[in-house]
Amino acid sequence: MISDRERDDLRASMPDLLRERCGIVNLRRSFSCPSPGHEDSDPSAHYYENGNTVHCFGCGKTWDVFTLVGELNGIDGFAEQARAVADIVGYRLSDDGGEPPRPRPKPKPRPPFEKPREAGAGNYFEACGRAFGDLYAPGNEVGRRYLRYRGLDDDDAARWGLGFTRNPRCIMPQFRVYEPEALGFITIPFWNRDFSEARYCMVRTISRGDVRNKEWRPKGVASPLWNEWMLTASLPVVFVAEGLIDAMAISKVVNKPTMALGGVANAKRLASILYHAEPRERPDKVIVCMDEDDEGRKTAEAICGNLTRIGVANGLVPPYPGGAKDMDEWLMRGEGTEWDFEAQPADGTGLVLYRTRWRDGS
Ligand SMILES: [Zn+2]
Repeated sequence: MISDRERDDLRASMPDLLRERCGIVNLRRSFSCPSPGHEDSDPSAHYYENGNTVHCFGCGKTWDVFTLVGELNGIDGFAEQARAVADIVGYRLSDDGGEPPRPRPKPKPRPPFEKPREAGAGNYFEACGRAFGDLYAPGNEVGRRYLRYRGLDDDDAARWGLGFTRNPRCIMPQFRVYEPEALGFITIPFWNRDFSEARYCMVRTISRGDVRNKEWRPKGVASPLWNEWMLTASLPVVFVAEGLIDAMAISKVVNKPTMALGGVANAKRLASILYHAEPRERPDKVIVCMDEDDEGRKTAEAICGNLTRIGVANGLVPPYPGGAKDMDEWLMRGEGTEWDFEAQPADGTGLVLYRTRWRDGS
C-alpha cells in the first residue's frame, strides 16, 4: 500500500514530473497543454503551486500528479499511477505491494513533439493553375487591384502562384463559403517546392469598400503550413510569418525564403515537422516574425523556445518599421514613400503589368 505520507510526497513532485516527463522547466510561465489529446499551440496550461495541480484553460482539465501521469501514460488506477510517478521522479516507495524490490525499466519518454499529422488533400494543381490565369482574364481586374492594395505586384502573384476565382468550390470542393457581397476571391495555394502539387488552398474575400480581412479554408481538411517544404530543404535561413500575406510581404522586403503558419494555432506543427526531420534537412536558422501584439509575442516566444529545444538556431525580427503591426501593414503604408508601383504594358497582349519600384536608399 502507498502511505499517506508517500502520497503527499508524490503529490508535491509535480514540478519534477513536468520537467522529467514533459520537459517543462519554467513554471512561472504558461506552457502548452500536456494532454496528448489537446493540440495546444497557444500555451494555455498553468501550474498551481498551492495545490500542486496543472490546469489547462484550453480544454478545461485539471490534473494532480496521479491523474496527469494517468493521462500521459494511459494508465488507470491510483496505485499504478503512483508507481509511475515514483518511477519518473525517482522516488522510492517503501512498500511495493509485497513484491521484492526490483529495478523497473524507465518508461520510454513520449517525444516532446508528436509526429506531424497528414495535412492537405488531393492535388489541386490544375484548379490553382487555372485560377492563376484567371487573375489576368478580362473582367477580373479586381483581384490584382486587391493584391496591389496589399502591396503585392504581378511578380509576387507569379512567384507565389496566386489566383482569382468567383467560386472557391471550383478550386477545392471542400470549401463552404457564403459571401454574397464578394467580388471574388484571391486564391493562395500551398504549392510544393517545384509547383507540381498543391494539396491545400486558402482563399481571401475581395469585397467593395472596406477590404475585409476574411480568410476561408476548406472544411474538414487539416491545414499544412504555407511553404512547409522550406522546413526540410536544408536552407541557411527561413523566415516564419503568422499570416500568408505577411509572409509574402516579408519575403518581398528581405528577399529570403519565407513561410507562414496561417494562424498561431499551427505553431505546434512547425515544431513537430522540425523535430521529426533529419537534422541536416532543417534550416540552419529560423527567424520568427509574428504580429506586434500580445498574442504574437507569446507565440513567438513559444516558437523560439521550441526551436531552441530542437536545436535550431532562431531569432526574432526586430519591431517592424514605423511601428507597424506586421510587415504587410508596413508595406501597404510605404506605398508612395518607400516604393511605388510601376505600370508596364506587356508585349502585344494589351495587358499592363505592375512591378514594385523601391525608392533609393530603402
Ligand atoms: Zn488542454
